[in-house]
Order: sequence, then structure tokens, then C-alpha cells
Amino acid sequence: MAVLTCRGLRKEFGGQVVLDGLDLTVDEHQVVALIGASGSGKSTLLRCVNLLEELDDGTIELDGEEISDPRVDPDRVRRRIGMVFQSYNLFPHLSVVENVTLAPRRVHRRGQAEAEAQARELLDRVGLGAKADAYPDRLSGGQQQRVAIVRALANSPRLMLLDEVTSALDPELVGEVLAMIRDLKADGMTMVLATHEMGFARDVADQVCFLDAGRVVEAGPPARVLGEPTQPRTRQFLRRII
Ligand code: ADP
Ligand code: MG
Repeated sequence: MAVLTCRGLRKEFGGQVVLDGLDLTVDEHQVVALIGASGSGKSTLLRCVNLLEELDDGTIELDGEEISDPRVDPDRVRRRIGMVFQSYNLFPHLSVVENVTLAPRRVHRRGQAEAEAQARELLDRVGLGAKADAYPDRLSGGQQQRVAIVRALANSPRLMLLDEVTSALDPELVGEVLAMIRDLKADGMTMVLATHEMGFARDVADQVCFLDAGRVVEAGPPARVLGEPTQPRTRQFLRRII
């Protein structure tokens, strides 16, 4: 069953076409890796799915509901989607556990005690239990990004969108974040991730989509798209980055 179906997405910024009739389907428990040069539209696609950008054309369905319909309440949709950005955006004046419970408390109107218990359990599970009461500046970049992922998970999302979540990290901190994403996949989380980590995409993704100028130029199993690309533009991109 498809969790996410994007059809004919079109997005322009001031006359520049950034998404150009883009189609994408993500099945339940699938991990889809978006690859492509800087500026190819990966972040815009993820932002459109989370209703942070208005579409110029096309439709987005989440679990069969057309969430791109302007009558749909975006906050209700965002409760079902967890999004994590390159810059982890933790609130510096809030402790780790407060960062994690902020959304569940505000968005879901859950009780403080329940939200906090759930947050501590999630933090324990990813090995950050001891940091629950620390402030973000006491954590490494990798730990902060893992907290940002936990914060997105606190809403029990149907779908996780991860935008270059390791790009701002020192190389030695990348592994712990990738390991966490691997664990999420093992738990069956459906995810779309934009990444420059080709080795990781090959390892974790069920499907790799190569974006070029706002279109999916080539998509398929990682071994095929990364190992035997058929499109000249995919080959050119992979030659440049490997
Ligand atoms: P990627 O994530 O693949 O690097 P983006 O989706 O960030 O690509 O950007 C695609 C194109 O859209 C780029 O040319 C970028 O400059 C442009 N763009 C993205 N967001 C905006 C915006 N808010 N206003 C104007 N142009 C934008
Ligand atoms: Mg981007």
C-alpha cells in the first residue's frame, strides 16, 4: 500500500521551475532515497510533502487522502509526518526532553506527564536517556541530530522526511545518525530521505530516485540506479560525486 503518492508536482519560484511534473510513490515500510545535484529540487519536494510550500500543480496523497487539497488543514497533516532538517534546529533554551515533548504537548494536547514518559522512553531506546535533562549545547552535533529525529518521532508519524540530516555533521559523527536511521527502517518506518551519502543510500534504501531539474529522471533499486544507471544524466552525476 502506498503511504505517499505524488503526481505531477509542479513548483515555481519567481518563474524558475523547481519541480517539473514530478511523480513519486512510497509504499509502506519503504525507504526512498532522493539523490541529485544541489538545486535539483530535493528539499523543495520534501517541503511540499510537508505542506511547507504551496504547489503550483499536481496532487499529494498521504494514506490515500489528498493532502494537497487547499481545504485540508496543514497542521493536521504535519502531525502525521515527521520532518528533520540538515540543521537540527533544537531550541537552545529547552532541555533535550523539553525539546522532544514540545510538539506532542502543543500539537496533540497530551498531558505533560504522558508526553515526558514517552520522550524519555524514546531517548532511552536510542541511547540518549542520560542526556534527557541536558541542554543542546552540551551535546555533540550527532547527538543533537539524533534528538531532532527523536523529536520528529514523538508525534508517531506515518512518514518521516529527512533532508540531508548528516550534511552539517563532522565526519566522525555521521555514523551514529545513519545507524539510527537504519534502526528506524528495521522498525518498519516509512521514510523519504534526501542524501549525499551514496553508500548509505545503497545500503538502506529500497528505492533510489535521481532528481534532475525537478524531475525523477531515474528510479529503482539502489544496486541498479547506482550500479548500472541507464540515463546519461544519472551516469554523469554519479561520475562527478564518486
Ligand atoms: P536541493 O535540495 O536539491 O539542493 P532545492 O529544492 O533546495 O534543491 O532547490 C531547488 C531550486 O529552487 C534551487 O534553484 C533553489 O535556489 C530554488 N529555491 C528553493 N527554495 C526557494 C525559495 N524559497 N525561493 C526561491 N527559490 C528557491
Ligand atoms: Mg536540499
